[in-house]
Amino acid sequence: MKRRRERILRGIPVSAGFAVGPVFVYRHELPEFSEQTIESGSAKEEVKRFRDAVKSAESDLRKLHDEVKSDMGRDFAEFISIQIALLTDKDVLGQTEQFITDEAKNAEFAYTETLKRLAGPMATSTVPFFRERALDVGDVSARVLRQLLGEELPSLHEVEQGSVIAAHDLPPSEAALLDPQVVRGLVLEGGGRTSHTAIMAKAKEIPALVGTEGLLHEAVKGQQAVVDGYRGLVVLNPSRNRLGQYQSEMERYERHRESLAELTAEEAVTQDGKMIDLSANIEFLAEARAAQKYGARGIGLFRTEYMYLARRRPPTEDEQLEVYTEVAKMCEPNPVIIRTFDIGGDKVVPGYTEPNPFLGWRGLRLCFDHPELLRTQLRAVLRASVFGNVKVMYPMVSTMGEWRRARMILEQVKKELTKEKQEFNRQLDAGVMIETPSAAMMADQFALECAFLSIGSNDLTQYTLAVDRGNERVARLYDNFHPSVLRLIKGTIEAAHRHGIWVGLCGEFASDPLGMLILLGFGIDELSVTPGAIPEAKNVIRSIDTGSAGEIAQAAMQLGTGLEVKRMLRQGLHSRFPKLAEFLFELAGEEIDDE
Ligand code: PEP
Ligand code: MG
Repeated sequence: MKRRRERILRGIPVSAGFAVGPVFVYRHELPEFSEQTIESGSAKEEVKRFRDAVKSAESDLRKLHDEVKSDMGRDFAEFISIQIALLTDKDVLGQTEQFITDEAKNAEFAYTETLKRLAGPMATSTVPFFRERALDVGDVSARVLRQLLGEELPSLHEVEQGSVIAAHDLPPSEAALLDPQVVRGLVLEGGGRTSHTAIMAKAKEIPALVGTEGLLHEAVKGQQAVVDGYRGLVVLNPSRNRLGQYQSEMERYERHRESLAELTAEEAVTQDGKMIDLSANIEFLAEARAAQKYGARGIGLFRTEYMYLARRRPPTEDEQLEVYTEVAKMCEPNPVIIRTFDIGGDKVVPGYTEPNPFLGWRGLRLCFDHPELLRTQLRAVLRASVFGNVKVMYPMVSTMGEWRRARMILEQVKKELTKEKQEFNRQLDAGVMIETPSAAMMADQFALECAFLSIGSNDLTQYTLAVDRGNERVARLYDNFHPSVLRLIKGTIEAAHRHGIWVGLCGEFASDPLGMLILLGFGIDELSVTPGAIPEAKNVIRSIDTGSAGEIAQAAMQLGTGLEVKRMLRQGLHSRFPKLAEFLFELAGEEIDDE
C-alpha cells in the first residue's frame, strides 16, 4: 500500500502539550429518517412514541449528569443540565406534539422541523455562544432521534487507548466524559477558544486544537497523528524524520516536566529574592484542585461567568456560596480573588445580541443594569469570606464612577448582611481589573481607592490596539508585546506602587516566558496563570533576577514595534539567562515549515 503523504494542518491551540497516537475520527451526524404521513387516528400513538423517546433520552442524560458530577464536579455537570433543560423544553415538546397531531407527520420529522423553527438561527449566528448552543441542540436531538429509530448513539467509549480524536466538534456530553488516560489529544475543525470542549480539554490537560480547517477531509481513522498544542499544529502521517524530531522533543519535555515537578513545594522567588505571588486562573472547582497540585499560591482570577453560562440562568446565592466556600477552604490561607460576572463580549448573554459586544453591554455595565445579579453575587462572596482569604474584583471597568458605584453596592450589601446577622469579613479587599486603556491611564486614581489592581492583558491588548481578540482575520495584529500595551502595563504597575498597593496580571501574557521577563522587569507583584502553566512559570521566576530583567525591560521600552520588543527580550534572555533561554527555546522551537 502506498504510504500517504505527511500533512500539516494549523489550528488554534487551546490546551498545551504534545500527543502522538492513532487517529479516531468521530462523526456526530443526525441519524437519517424519512418524512412520513401517519394514518388518521394514530396521532395519539405517535405522540406517545415521541414522549417515550424523550423520557428514555432524559434518563440517559440524568445518568450521564451524575457520572460527570462524581467524576469532575458539580459545575462541570451543569453542561449536561443544559441539555436536560433543552430536551425537556415545554415549547419544543408542546409544538412537536401539535405538529404530529395537526400535520399527521411522524415524530422524527415533527421534532426536527420544530427544532429547526425554534433553534435553527443559532447555528448560523455570528455569536460564538449561540453557535455553541446549537451544538447542544444537535446533541439532544440526535439522542431523541436515535431513541425513536432504535439506533445506538455513536460514542467515544470505543476509542482505543492512546488515540488522537479528530472531529468537527464534540457534543458537550461526550466532551465531559473525555478520559485523559485514554484520549491523548484532541483536534477539532470547529469550536472556538471559549467553547465547552476547549474549556474541558484544558481543564483535563488534554493537548488540543480548535478551528483546524480541512481536518475531516484529511484525517483517516488509524493513521498516525502528532498534536502540537504549543505551536497549534496537527501533523497527519508524520514522516519518520518529523516523528523522530517530535519524539525527542516530547522526551525532553517529559524530563523537563518531571524536573519542574520538584518545584511544586518551592516558592516563586527570583534569583535576587523577590517573592512573586504566583496564582492560578480558574473557571471550575476541578481547576482549583489542579492549581493546588501544581503549587499555586491561591487563585488570582476566578472567572465566575461560567457558572451563569453553564446554567443559562444566574446561579442562586446558595449555589455560589457553596462553590466559593469550597475553593476558599481549599486554598486557605492563600487568597482567592473572585471576579464578578464578566458576561457579555464573547461570553454573551443568552437571548441577547448586539452589534459590538466587546464595546457594549459587558461586565460591570451589564451588572449595574441587573443590580440583583451583582448583589446576589456579592452576598455569596462576602458570606464565603469567613471560610478563607477571599477578595473581590470587578471586570470591564472603564471609569472611576463605575468602581465607586460597585464599591457603594458592596457597602450596601454589607449593611444588609449585618442586619441579617450574617458573618463576613468586614475588611474584604476589593480591587479592579485594569483591562481598558481608560482604566490604565487612570491607574493612579484607582490605586488611591482600591486594595489592589489586576491587569487583564487579554482585553487591554484588544482595546488598546482595536483588535477583536477572537477574530482570526485580525489575529496577526493582536500583540501583547506592542509598546502601546506595554506602556499602559508599566504605567499601571508604577501607579500602584506609588500608592502602596500590590498589582498583578492575569491575562495570557503572564504565562509567556518573555512576558514574564518584562513584567518582572517592570516590578510586577503577582502573576496569575492557568494551573498547568504554574510549574513552568515557577521555573522562569526562579531563574531570573529582577535587576537584569529591569535593564532588559528598560531597553525594550525604547523600541517602536512589538516584533522589535520580542527580539530584544529574546536576546536579553539569551545573554543574561542562558540556561533558561536554551531550555525554553529548545522546547518552544521556532516555527515548523508546513511543506
Ligand atoms: C483579561 O482580559 O486579560 C482577563 C484575564 O480576563 P478574560 O480573559 O476573562 O476577559
Ligand atoms: Mg478580560
